[in-house]
Amino acid sequence: MNKPKIVILGAGFGGITTAVKLQKKLSRNDAHITLVNKHDYHYQTTWLHENAAGTLHHDRTRIPVKDIVDTNKIDFVQDTVVEIKPDEKKVVLKNGELDYDYLVVGLGFEAATFGIPGIMENAFTINSINSARLIKQHIEYNFAMYNNEKEKRPERLNIIIGGGGFTGIEFAGEIANRVPELCKEYDIDPKDVRMIVLEGAPTILPGFDPQLIEYAMNSLEARGVEFKTGALLKECRVDGITYEKDEKQEDIPALTTIWAAGVRANSLIETSGLEHNRGKVPVQPDLRAPSHPDVFVVGDCALIMNEETGRPYPPTAQIAMQEAETIAHNLSALVHGKENLESFEFINRGSVASLGDSDAIGVIFGDKKIFGWTASFMKKMIDNRALFKIGGLGLVLKKGKFNIF
Ligand code: FAD
Repeated sequence: MNKPKIVILGAGFGGITTAVKLQKKLSRNDAHITLVNKHDYHYQTTWLHENAAGTLHHDRTRIPVKDIVDTNKIDFVQDTVVEIKPDEKKVVLKNGELDYDYLVVGLGFEAATFGIPGIMENAFTINSINSARLIKQHIEYNFAMYNNEKEKRPERLNIIIGGGGFTGIEFAGEIANRVPELCKEYDIDPKDVRMIVLEGAPTILPGFDPQLIEYAMNSLEARGVEFKTGALLKECRVDGITYEKDEKQEDIPALTTIWAAGVRANSLIETSGLEHNRGKVPVQPDLRAPSHPDVFVVGDCALIMNEETGRPYPPTAQIAMQEAETIAHNLSALVHGKENLESFEFINRGSVASLGDSDAIGVIFGDKKIFGWTASFMKKMIDNRALFKIGGLGLVLKKGKFNIF
């Protein structure tokens, strides 16, 4: 038999971990493996809010694929996936086509705007290195402009964060730390700046421990962040937003709105013909697509139910990396002619949300609540562990976070 062709789409947390694990399990003689990604670098999606706020340089976040993947064992193709054709076992790229025996889809997420007028056109989203860089530049430009116009425009200094979930709160923590620096750089009174988190639910970080939520709100409020909970964003314009709270609508002028209130799987899933449920593939226990057993799906494109809660697991880097290990194991088994594939089991190692560089909240080891310095230290260890998993000690030493104190 010819060597099977394995194609991995996306070099995010799911795709790159699959590739790294596979290169240890299979040799060039076993299979022909190709990794496809839009850019020639992988990025730590979980750090993008820091790049967006300008508290971490984007070069710390991106890692050249060739520094992680052994190109003697895996072919890397830098290209954009345009279409997945599972019935023909083909993937259409912007600059060509690939056929496969086994496919791994790890194309990540896109912003979900829920049809709110103006979000798509006027709000910024934190979903790639380039989108994060744009936010950083845009905020800085508005601070720079503020003292350079005859008539002051307060909306230049108003930053709206749509969504008080993990991404919105983590961004709020970073921007709250960056604003005093920007004010100093551009001779602005910090009292003129507003950072406003809008959250539709009655509380920020819905589902998180109430004591930790209170801690997070106090920490951010002390640094100037305002919260409007039970407040729904109704419209986003280029120069402001409208939100609704207690059946009353209010406008806030703002030139910067960050939309962090929802993500959906890459829309290529919906157009692919793979069976999907609200845009994600409801994978089988072995992480194969139910409609196409030669297709594995990893990360934010996969839907896996948490039997305990009856709800899908939220999309996280943690679950994406664990899924990738199962997929690599199962692909290796298939290539070696084994039929018994491993079932995926999620091991919840907890979750920690940063509130800026030296503060955080989290729950680890099942139910241990942590906050402040301990949580911030833990968050950095989690970030370093993710680096270790994809690139070993060398990558941790190069890109790791060691500013513990
Ligand atoms: P990604 O890591 O997003 O990778 C997708 C890859 O596919 C990217 O490299 C992209 O360039 C590539 N791609 C996309 N479309 C195409 C195309 N058409 N052609 C070619 N390539 C393409 N999770 C946690 O566990 N803990 C956290 O603390 C945490 N914090 C977060 C903070 C922020 C600001 C954000 C945005 C997310 C955070 N997450 C966190 C969620 C986590 O980052 C995602 O769940 C995770 O990245 C999903 O991995 P993935 O492999 O599915 O997608």
